[in-house]
Amino acid sequence: MSNLGIRRVAVLGAGTMGHGIAEVFAMSGFEVNLMDVSDEILRNALNRIRDSLERLSRRGELREGVDAIMSRIHTTTKVAEAVRDIDFLVEAVPENADLKKSIFREADQYAPPHAIFASNTSTIPITELSEATSRREKFVGMHFMNPPPLMKLVEITRGKYTSDDTVNITVQLTRILNKEPVVVNKDVPGFIVNRVLFRVMLEACREATQEGIKIVDLDAMARNVLGLPMGTFELLDYIGLDTSLFIVKAMTERGFKAHSCPLLEDLVSKGKLGVKSGEGFYKYPGPGQYVKPRVLPEQGLELDPIRLMAPAINELAWLVREGVATVDDIDKSVKLGLNYPWGLSEFADEAGIDNIVDALTQLKNASGWEEYEPDPLLTNYVKEGRLGRKSGRGFREYPGVEFRRYEEIMLRIDPPSAWIILNKPDKLNVLTPKMADEIVNALRSVEDDPRVRVVVITGSGRAFCAGADINQFQNATPMQMFKAMRHYHSMTLEIEYYTKPVIAAINAMPLVVVWRLLWPATSG
Ligand code: NAD
Repeated sequence: MSNLGIRRVAVLGAGTMGHGIAEVFAMSGFEVNLMDVSDEILRNALNRIRDSLERLSRRGELREGVDAIMSRIHTTTKVAEAVRDIDFLVEAVPENADLKKSIFREADQYAPPHAIFASNTSTIPITELSEATSRREKFVGMHFMNPPPLMKLVEITRGKYTSDDTVNITVQLTRILNKEPVVVNKDVPGFIVNRVLFRVMLEACREATQEGIKIVDLDAMARNVLGLPMGTFELLDYIGLDTSLFIVKAMTERGFKAHSCPLLEDLVSKGKLGVKSGEGFYKYPGPGQYVKPRVLPEQGLELDPIRLMAPAINELAWLVREGVATVDDIDKSVKLGLNYPWGLSEFADEAGIDNIVDALTQLKNASGWEEYEPDPLLTNYVKEGRLGRKSGRGFREYPGVEFRRYEEIMLRIDPPSAWIILNKPDKLNVLTPKMADEIVNALRSVEDDPRVRVVVITGSGRAFCAGADINQFQNATPMQMFKAMRHYHSMTLEIEYYTKPVIAAINAMPLVVVWRLLWPATSG
């Protein structure tokens, strides 16, 4: 018995998720009553659990023998029997609200009054399900990721009536299971992981549909530039296109603002469901035979990673502003639930929150879609100068980072380096005499600063600097041109004779170079 007073747990439904959840509980020492509609399904579930435990045992990941763990799992086809003497219940039957409610109603009659009920639903409101029981305050969402024995994250969702005690016990229980809990404080459709995931997927889909960007190039960019483990469309195929469509529809029906993906609808209507049917966005050797789609290392490098991620950052802002989850928990969710190599707030702070807002504004103007409206949290951050790492503060604080804003450049002192950022994100030809002067001033201001050992000059947005802003020279007299050139020459002389190394981090096409400088972990 855990010190939470939980000894016996019921898992209702022994399918894809249920058998894995039962395995996780049994591995942590709990007695498990596993229930499904037929003995055959239960036998099959026990075989899958045994196979999985044996694999873990061969890898030395079990503290006790497979038989000892299996002996704690008891099967039944009757709800009343499954919930007798339990302290906790996890429901994992198919995603159908009426079915789930009828099971909870029945379980409520036979389970001890103190037992907590949890649902593994992905899309049905926890509040609605809890209303089928007489223990609404002891009812909580407990969303495991697939496959439960391997995936660390569990989203714990508070329904309208869920008590603090219930949330706290479920959080502690999740830790005993050796999982990482994140608390979703409001019963919002898609919780955290699915909301973020589908923001990225729907933007990728829009770029493919409306701009004709190749699916494989978008997936290549996600892998090569962003360092994600899977491309967006590859992941959709893996999850199942019917399941993905079902989740998006269920979320939008409940108020998640989004336009559907016509590519997804079309494939599903043709029975192309992804890996499980042998074809989806990609073709596979046969049904259920996953082969990772091939992308070349140089593929997708010209595409804009900030634009792909901006809607997900907007979602992060909404979740934080609405008090649904903390920045830390959202970062944890994408790292552990989606295997992203970085958290969303870390991405936003590196990319620049002003650049995220610009990307969203352009998307909104081009599409007219409401979901691209930059969240007030982001626009307020920009107004306050909280632009991310470059300004020393964004979603997170960067202590020791000092930020100086000039008119055309920014200077970020991030010891041991100082970064001069040519701050004209919309332009390619950025250099003006004024900018040249500001670069000289910035260089001089840190030359004797003992914290700074190297100065890096870089662009903002997608471009470094393709040359001088020639608009400046329209109608200029030869003498004015001569004077303008003096500014440029002073700047190059300053750099040439500078007493510390000066590096150009050239973004634009090879944005990936800077990206990998900032995030060495993503280079592959
Ligand atoms: P599944 O279809 O693989 O398994 C559901 C099981 O419930 C089946 O074995 C079925 O026989 C059983 N069942 C049906 N009616 C029942 C009843 N009246 N009593 C007891 N058992 C019954 O489904 P799944 O993928 O395991 O999904 C289960 C839940 O978990 C859903 O709510 C789903 O949204 C959620 N979920 C799924 C995933 C995933 O990747 N599959 C991930 C997270 C959450």
